Amino acid sequence: MKIAVLPGDGIGPEVTREAVKVLEALDLPGLTLFDGDVGGVAYSRHGHPLPQETLTMARECDAVLFGAVGDPSCDGLERHLRPEQAVLGLRKELGLFANLRPAKVFKGLEHLSPLKPEIAADFDILFVRELTGDVYFGEKGERIGIDGSREGWDTMSYSAKEVSRIAQVAFRAARAGNCRVCSVDKANVLETSQVWRDTVIEAAGSHPDIDLTHMYVDNAAMQIISKPAQFGVILTGNLFGDILSDLASAAVGSIGLLPSASMGARETAHGIFGLYEPIHGSAPDIAGQGRANPMATILSAAMMLRHSFGREAEAAAIEAAVGRALADGIRGGDLGGEHGCKEIGAAVRERL
Ligand code: ATP
Ligand code: MG
Repeated sequence: MKIAVLPGDGIGPEVTREAVKVLEALDLPGLTLFDGDVGGVAYSRHGHPLPQETLTMARECDAVLFGAVGDPSCDGLERHLRPEQAVLGLRKELGLFANLRPAKVFKGLEHLSPLKPEIAADFDILFVRELTGDVYFGEKGERIGIDGSREGWDTMSYSAKEVSRIAQVAFRAARAGNCRVCSVDKANVLETSQVWRDTVIEAAGSHPDIDLTHMYVDNAAMQIISKPAQFGVILTGNLFGDILSDLASAAVGSIGLLPSASMGARETAHGIFGLYEPIHGSAPDIAGQGRANPMATILSAAMMLRHSFGREAEAAAIEAAVGRALADGIRGGDLGGEHGCKEIGAAVRERL
């Protein structure tokens, strides 16, 4: 079990340290951790936010545990040297094409959600978003149109190959839950979505245990807020996934609790290579003060055990420990509480 630990900037190092301690507390056989620089800290030490040695190390590991990048003092740098570029570089170089984002309301935290408590209580959705295709990466341009006014265009496209591989990720992930997959598209008006829907249906043919449904994206936006309990996994493209996963995060209402995974195609001994990180950023406003909530990073480490190492029992144990800590009133500043980063880490380990 080789893990590259890339803490990065701001609160990244504090929250990553607590997640690493949780992993170490599990006494996993053969667990080996490697530390690497990424982001603003890498720029100041090596002159680049994603140094070659960091990339090489990540490639030689089975998974990456990533903190956060972002450093206000780097704002004046050329774009390719800014800390945020490291994430894009890692995604590209490591071939990460699937983004997994669970959005779940923990027991006792229903009041943080803007939804009615009885609706929030059942909010537990895993978003599986395609990352490398769609309108973001199609041909684009600008011209003066025939009416003489400025006009821009972006091409939306998906190949069956791209859709099929992301569908497989969703089906695999659904098995850790209730086997329900809802594929979200706009097949009533988009050609891309026709290919998407046909391909997902075909891919599901070899997964009879998966309960597959389809929904148009406009309806999905409404259903996620009004009847979230119907969903298990939501499988969708880059653009719709970008918007819907942020919508869901806001519906959950606690940025310090939300983990994520970016998965590639490379198989490890017991799973798939992936990069795991909290969805929050480097939070420069509270960095170095010991006030960051490490739960999102700890939950990211749980996702790592599940998806890259096939350790469902340990992953579920970490998630249960976080749930118990929250139920016992452990609260970071992001949840309006007083507990510090180390205290929260220790509280989770105690309950593990
Ligand atoms: P970046 O540019 O790196 O994305 P940001 O400031 O845009 O940073 P976040 O880092 O996500 O965005 O922070 C948004 C707000 O939420 C900040 O006020 C930050 O202090 C708070 N916050 C984010 N993560 C945490 C956390 N783990 N614990 C406590 N507060 C947090
Ligand atoms: Mg941000």
